[in-house]
Amino acid sequence: MKPIVVLGSGLAGYTLVRELRKLDRDVAITLVSRDSGDYYSKPMLSNALAQGKSAGALVITAAADMAVQLDFTLLQNTEVSGIDREHKQLQTSSGVIEYDRLVLALGADPIRLPLQGDAADAVVSVNDLADYAKFRGAIESITQETKHIAIIGAGLIGCEFANDLATAGYAVTIIDPTTHPLSSLMPEHAGKQLLEPLAALGVTGRFGVAVQAVDRQSTDYALTLTDGTTLHADVVLSAVGLRPRVELARSSGLAVNRGIVVDAHMRGSDASIYALGDCAEIEGRVLPYVLPIMHAARALAQVLTRKDARVDFPAMPVVVKTPAHPVVVLPVARDAIGAWRILTNDQEIKRGTKLGFFDAQNQLRGFALTGEYAAERSAMTKQLGESGI
Ligand SMILES: Cc1cc2nc3c(=O)[nH]c(=O)nc-3n(C[C@H](O)[C@H](O)[C@H](O)COP(=O)(O)OP(=O)(O)OC[C@H]3O[C@@H](n4cnc5c(N)ncnc54)[C@H](O)[C@@H]3O)c2cc1C
Repeated sequence: MKPIVVLGSGLAGYTLVRELRKLDRDVAITLVSRDSGDYYSKPMLSNALAQGKSAGALVITAAADMAVQLDFTLLQNTEVSGIDREHKQLQTSSGVIEYDRLVLALGADPIRLPLQGDAADAVVSVNDLADYAKFRGAIESITQETKHIAIIGAGLIGCEFANDLATAGYAVTIIDPTTHPLSSLMPEHAGKQLLEPLAALGVTGRFGVAVQAVDRQSTDYALTLTDGTTLHADVVLSAVGLRPRVELARSSGLAVNRGIVVDAHMRGSDASIYALGDCAEIEGRVLPYVLPIMHAARALAQVLTRKDARVDFPAMPVVVKTPAHPVVVLPVARDAIGAWRILTNDQEIKRGTKLGFFDAQNQLRGFALTGEYAAERSAMTKQLGESGI
């Protein structure tokens, strides 16, 4: 019997294999990954520097041990370059592999801005363990007394790195063309509340400007901003978002939109091929966070073991790891129609903000809790109940 082949050893791939094994001890599983396949928690990448953790220390379980524990065939450091759907075969750097059913858990690529300058290629992003090792090596080799890191992008990952790097003693400048941090997750007055606590740690915010060029100087880099000013940094980190990895699916003729198009059973346009995690677009939604991936992986394990299952997402809040000013959000869809409303009353003296996003029917669809209100995550999630997002 040909195996179920899982491509990718991130949270999506490994959660699926774990859930599959709970349901079926015998089904043959092959896991293929172009990286080492070591199991780690990706969210730790943006809060491990202040704890002084090396990339090796972030590995929870080595790939070979995962293969023994979960009884699968491991093909590590193996890149998949093509899918022959007719013959159910994969072209890989380790030869041809056959599959019975195939799961694409390929993750997402960091978006690269089209920057000018002779050091545009020196801008780094951190999206896996190898990136983290490279980034940590770069910031640790800075010899200047004040070690300056520029972060392009003040979204979730940019803000988390800013908090972590500043806590670790680095001087940080965070640059974003919008008006405030976390602009895709919350309105201006809520996002701006992050500025003061981050500034107290040593983070400077440059909002309303973008980076145009990065050039090498004798001892550091010069960043030219769109307002004509220049700032200097020893290392430049880009955190401007991720794009689902869809190329393999696209070149194999699978339906692709923003992500690999799948239904509520995670089934793609080929009935033997499924997608999960950051690369997937499940019923029109790309949900690149831990909780949706775990929900979807559980449902897919059932589907693959011939049980009738579909994923129904409950309300899944996201914790932004900015301890300087805690933030919890229940993100609203990009195209959601509605308005944010302040939910605090004048009598309350807590620091922070509590906001709800209400649709045209006055239904609560999302929320943003900052500062002391972040502790109300469970109560707010309950208000949304199991109605889903
Ligand atoms: C810095 C950072 C912090 C985060 N913090 C949080 C957080 O606090 N909370 C939260 O909910 N979410 C957070 N996220 C998001 C969350 O971590 C991701 O949604 C999740 O880890 C994605 O898992 P994945 O398995 O889909 O992708 P990945 O972990 O990227 O795995 C993709 C796998 O596919 C393999 N692969 C790709 N192409 C090929 C190929 N052609 N052939 C073979 N193998 C291939 C890769 O090697 C890799 O093993 C964070 C993300 C980042 C980057």
